[in-house]
Amino acid sequence: MRVVEIRVKSALSRSGLPEYDYALNPYLGCSHGCRYCYAKDFTRGEPGEKWGEVVYVKVNLPEVLAREVRSLEPGVVGVSTITDPYQPIEAKYRLTRKSLEILLGAGFRASIQTKSTYVLKDMDLLFVHRRAVDVGLTITTFRPEVAKALEPGAPPPRARAAALSYIAELGVRTWVFLGPIIKGVNDSEDDWRPVLEVAARTHSEVTIDRYRPRPGADLMLASIGVRPAADPAWWSALAAKIKGECASLGLVCRTAEEEWREARSRGRGGVGLDKFL
Ligand code: SF4
Repeated sequence: MRVVEIRVKSALSRSGLPEYDYALNPYLGCSHGCRYCYAKDFTRGEPGEKWGEVVYVKVNLPEVLAREVRSLEPGVVGVSTITDPYQPIEAKYRLTRKSLEILLGAGFRASIQTKSTYVLKDMDLLFVHRRAVDVGLTITTFRPEVAKALEPGAPPPRARAAALSYIAELGVRTWVFLGPIIKGVNDSEDDWRPVLEVAARTHSEVTIDRYRPRPGADLMLASIGVRPAADPAWWSALAAKIKGECASLGLVCRTAEEEWREARSRGRGGVGLDKFL
């Protein structure tokens, strides 16, 4: 993994998504290196070109953010939208931690999405500010061979589920992102049913989404022999089946499109960019 320290002029960006007012990305690139990751297509330069192999670290982010929050209206911040805020490099730089301290201390809300158990290191802070944060864990399957192929650098799904349980037990609002679901790869009942069961145990809302083709992600998937074809009928039937199971488990479950429409209509949401791209 190549790590490059960079300095930035701005910290928060305006989010074009209805559920967030701002987006915060402490890193460019992501060492989790998920093969379906759309963020590759939204990341310029070396981290985007060598997805999963290079991470740029915004070392002066906290000082820039501390300056910015003084003049911005508090709102909901998506943490993060094109990187994982708790990828391993966070253990060294603590940029996510420092940023959350600044944001929450200034009255902003944070909606965190991660695949990493490193989020547990910040539970002291998240617990104190539990009315202003929500935490989403992405779980695409519990089958280890499939998860390893799709998400080679991310913590095992069982560890993510354990983290989710711990966070929920502390009274922090949790949610599960079940996606992207790729036809023929992680769309069997053995993939999604256990994820729903974890959501039910933790009283987490669920968002489901299908894989949405992007040039860079298509290439990464092709490198492991996966070539998803668009199939609206497949998704429509599968989404209905999953939502039916959610209903029987007493779970709130939405497709990404439904969540996006709801967020648009009320001007707020609580889900990540992953779901809409
Ligand atoms: S954890 Fe998220 S940002 Fe990182 S590679 Fe995977 S999908 Fe992309």
